[in-house]
Amino acid sequence: YRITESHFVISAVGPDQYPEEPWPEVAMVGRSNVGKSSLINKICNRKNMARTSSKPGKTQTLNFYQINKDAHLVDLPGYGYANVPKSLKSTWGKMMERYLRDRQQLRGVLQLIDIRHSPTKDDVAMNEWLAHFGIATAVIITKADKISKGRYPQHVKEIRKTLNIAPHIPTIIFSAETGEGKEEVLELLDYLWHF
Ligand code: GDP
Repeated sequence: YRITESHFVISAVGPDQYPEEPWPEVAMVGRSNVGKSSLINKICNRKNMARTSSKPGKTQTLNFYQINKDAHLVDLPGYGYANVPKSLKSTWGKMMERYLRDRQQLRGVLQLIDIRHSPTKDDVAMNEWLAHFGIATAVIITKADKISKGRYPQHVKEIRKTLNIAPHIPTIIFSAETGEGKEEVLELLDYLWHF
């Protein structure tokens, strides 16, 4: 699967602003700075479509990207700094809940976790939240180039254990720097969007 066309559609804070096309959607969640923008740019072969920023917690909107004229990728606001997913009462929580609970064409969520760190309480809460909503989830382990390949298994094991994820939930090791895992992510997206 290849993404040959992609562009930014809209930054939305509520359903009024979501795109109207009934296309299948896949959303991405993760702590601020985990590498969401970098992953979007890498899989779309774009340099700067999703703005990468070293300023954490900047994106507080749902960012919709149109993919190949028949699908959307949605970058959900990062958590872990100003926002914690523990409360559905926060503005962040309301915005997330409305999207995750009500969006008909949502086919799955990719949760990004930094390979260097054990998942935080926020990551665990987010994962439980997705399970609660009955949303198909996969874990993308980012910034793989930051550790040696020999240490992959130990880190993957730690991440799976801390998130307490079921055996059928896939994990993909990814690096926006080297492109490792890019084909697997694209295959997964193709599957979630089109089957
Ligand atoms: P976001 O806040 O989740 O969108 O994270 P960004 O994509 O903006 O990335 C945050 C920082 O991590 C930036 O400085 C990126 O250059 C860096 N980064 C992201 N992905 C990778 C990666 O795969 N490898 C390395 N070495 N750095 C990365």
